[in-house]
Amino acid sequence: MSDAVMDLGMSPRVTELRDKVREMVQGEVLPLEDEYLAEVNKGDRWTYTPRMNEILESLKAEARKRGLWNFWLTDSERGYGLSTVEYAYLAEEMGKAHLGAETFNCSAPDTGNMEVFERYANDELKQKWLKPLLEGEIRSAYLMTEPDVASSDATNISMSCVRDGDDYVLNGEKWWSSGAGDPRCKVYIVMVKTGGDDDPRHSQHSMIVVPAGSEGVEILRPMQVYSMDDAPHGHMHIRFTNVRVPASNLLLGEGRGFEISQGRLGPGRIHHCMRAIGQAEHALALMCKRSTQREAFGKPLAQLGANFDIIANARMEIEQARLLCLKAAWMMDQGDARAAAPWISQIKVVAPAVALKVTDEAVQMFGAQGVSQDTPLARQWMHLRTLRLADGPDAVHRRQVARQELKQYTQQKMG
Ligand SMILES: Cc1cc2nc3c(=O)[nH]c(=O)nc-3n(C[C@H](O)[C@H](O)[C@H](O)COP(=O)(O)OP(=O)(O)OC[C@H]3O[C@@H](n4cnc5c(N)ncnc54)[C@H](O)[C@@H]3O)c2cc1C
Repeated sequence: MSDAVMDLGMSPRVTELRDKVREMVQGEVLPLEDEYLAEVNKGDRWTYTPRMNEILESLKAEARKRGLWNFWLTDSERGYGLSTVEYAYLAEEMGKAHLGAETFNCSAPDTGNMEVFERYANDELKQKWLKPLLEGEIRSAYLMTEPDVASSDATNISMSCVRDGDDYVLNGEKWWSSGAGDPRCKVYIVMVKTGGDDDPRHSQHSMIVVPAGSEGVEILRPMQVYSMDDAPHGHMHIRFTNVRVPASNLLLGEGRGFEISQGRLGPGRIHHCMRAIGQAEHALALMCKRSTQREAFGKPLAQLGANFDIIANARMEIEQARLLCLKAAWMMDQGDARAAAPWISQIKVVAPAVALKVTDEAVQMFGAQGVSQDTPLARQWMHLRTLRLADGPDAVHRRQVARQELKQYTQQKMG
């Protein structure tokens, strides 16, 4: 590990930014969310009603006016030049609202995709896709997972991508393509197989840019998460039949997909964790308010049964998760992706689990209302449960952590 001093605290500039983001999330975003979510059910769930557009665009315009935009571009001259540790404090605040990240143009999967465009795309692709993404004018999706292979092992990815003259031709299916249901989603970054089975396992794959709506791209259905379609964002099942894109859309070069995914998935994963900690804080706040304001058996709920312990455990677990998240962020800031990977894996297991547990306890404290549409808790629970699968299931990250730990004791490759 680097022997640099590990400073996980908030710098003065981040304290100021954090306060501004908090003020905007609490004062502007949260008050509009119920109305926004109710609008989704009016008419076609896969389009934006005029009011949804108005809410989103006015929030984005206000964020830009206040100078709160594209914080996620860490270590880049285009953004604020924040470190990952600094960004963590802002992402936590954004996590407290459903529309929080999008308000500041910091939402998944766009941030990971923009990072890929920024680092690996040629000028033409940057102009065409990165520019409108940075402006918040379009959205994007990242297509790796496939129905027919165990995609937690990305070396299994099988979508074929064959060079034909000046083009590549893609065939196969993807599913769980988050955000691809959104009518504003205009571009996909797709993990494909360009090499043969005899090539080294981590050199068989590539990433390629495919405009949404290309001929041969067919959206088959939205996948449901516990019976919910998450419209209009959506997690789509998509078929590619002879989809043709220019050869210059291939990023970095054939066989270099894993190089890119190392860069893409690290920041994306940790951003999810930072927001999950914000969700846990939000759930704990709701739980505390509820348990002090509602009475049963002659006492506030907080004083009944094990509720004191539940609240105390929630606070302690959130604090532990936050510190681990900041340490993983700090490891990323040291610039050695390989050294940071096991730390990202640790927090990718811990943050969703802690946030899910706290949210579940908050649901319980709210009684039946907790599972209803009248609090954000049910939707948040569902999202956090899926986060134990998305961006790598828990078991895959535990494998990373254990392998790293065991390295000190044996030359043999374990796991
Ligand atoms: C809401 C949601 C959004 C998503 N968004 C996207 C997206 O935008 N783009 C995208 O490409 N994908 C997305 N995914 C897919 C997600 O990344 C995959 O589901 C995940 O990588 C696992 O792949 P799989 O479903 O094929 O599971 P499999 O690979 O079949 O694994 C199933 C299970 O096997 C077990 N397992 C696997 N490996 C190990 C191991 N080493 N040790 C022990 N047990 C193991 C685990 O329990 C694992 O959960 C999303 C998923 C969800 C639920």
